[in-house]
Amino acid sequence: MARIVMKFGGTSVANLERIRAAAAFVRREVEAGHSVAVVVSAMAGETNRLVALTDEAGAPAPALDARFVEYDAIVSSGEQVTSALLALVMQNQGFRARSWQGWQIALRTDEAHGRARISAIDAEQIGDAMDNGEVAVVAGFQGIAPSGRIATLGRGGSDTSAVALAAVLGADRCDIYTDVDGVYTTDPRLTKQARRIGKISYEEMLEMASVGAKVLQTRSVEMAMAHKVRLRVLSSFDAPDANAIGTLICDEDEIVEQNIVTAITPDFNEAAVTVLAVPDEPGNAAAIFTKLAEMNINIDMIVQSASREAGFANISFTTKEDDLDRAIEALADVQTAIGYKSLQADRHVAKISVVGVGMKSHAGVASTMFRTLAEKGINIHNISTSEIKISVLIDSDAAEYAVRSLHDAYGLDKVN
Ligand code: ADP
Ligand code: ASP
Ligand code: MG
Repeated sequence: MARIVMKFGGTSVANLERIRAAAAFVRREVEAGHSVAVVVSAMAGETNRLVALTDEAGAPAPALDARFVEYDAIVSSGEQVTSALLALVMQNQGFRARSWQGWQIALRTDEAHGRARISAIDAEQIGDAMDNGEVAVVAGFQGIAPSGRIATLGRGGSDTSAVALAAVLGADRCDIYTDVDGVYTTDPRLTKQARRIGKISYEEMLEMASVGAKVLQTRSVEMAMAHKVRLRVLSSFDAPDANAIGTLICDEDEIVEQNIVTAITPDFNEAAVTVLAVPDEPGNAAAIFTKLAEMNINIDMIVQSASREAGFANISFTTKEDDLDRAIEALADVQTAIGYKSLQADRHVAKISVVGVGMKSHAGVASTMFRTLAEKGINIHNISTSEIKISVLIDSDAAEYAVRSLHDAYGLDKVN
């Protein structure tokens, strides 16, 4: 008898019909004799609706702010509903099942409301219930902070709830059911040429998630890698099938044939900021980035260049479009302290990343990227790299064309 964790995302529990379809997947595992925990998201669109309500009530975006304690109490309610609905549906089909809220498990987090991190899970009680044949239906995305208040794990956080639970339960696998049948060479919504990847390494999946592939939350992959959770991505829109393979996220050495480039990942939720004419003195970059860090604003792609005026520099960086207004607010304070001249912000940018472990040992990946974009007349604003990734910032209007061109240039439509 294996312990299995299954997770169903928003579109997979979008209404009662979809919840019944999800129940069929759960039944198959129970009937195979497994102990099962199911983690669910809120119904598709529900979290966005709840976030908009908190916005209207005066909590603009997650940050380290007392208002986000209430934000979390509101936005966590979507998962409360779906977990209980799925438990009810299973009970009505003759199965023993119960819903578990984050605080009931208890899934413990830190106090960073709106983007909390999991610190521990007291999984004994839930594990016993599962091993006694009761399906544990867990509300994803939520936990309990040291203050005793509900905390949420950041958008897409149900993936992380599922992987964390799989890790503490010592689960044999963690299956993420979504609206695509695996991880693809690029977002399958952007091109028909996208191909499902049979196996992908934790490292590449982590890089893809962190540069914006929405299919798994970054922290879920980090956690799967650290605890060696066997993670699969599968579709809940296909009929339940014991032979469905989806995509397995695993150690690099389990993958026999490695491509040089594995995937192209676009991120449309980017904004570029340039701080113009910063006095070229020690401490000014520190003043800018310390203030942004204090406001919990993540930044990326930093470039410093000489300003037209001698003795001054321009500092550019990218941030999430959702964080742009707060970044501008933060930098207004810094202007008083260091006296830069002005600020430019551009929302019409997108980051395109090429990811692949093969880059560690093969030359020419960057030149193919730059040549392809040049041939298509696409201008690059910024570049950043890691050992297994190259990202460029371009105009968002050109982003889809760039993805398709790069997908073609690296021969990814031939991946099987
Ligand atoms: P869920 O609601 O099930 O958590 P998400 O919307 O968070 O689902 O993630 C699934 C979506 O991720 C897909 O519909 C797809 O458009 C998107 N996606 C982005 N990049 C990829 C990729 N490389 N492979 C598969 N899906 C991707
Ligand atoms: N419902 C939450 C969200 O929309 C968490 C999740 O779906 O993973 O972000
Ligand atoms: Mg998701």
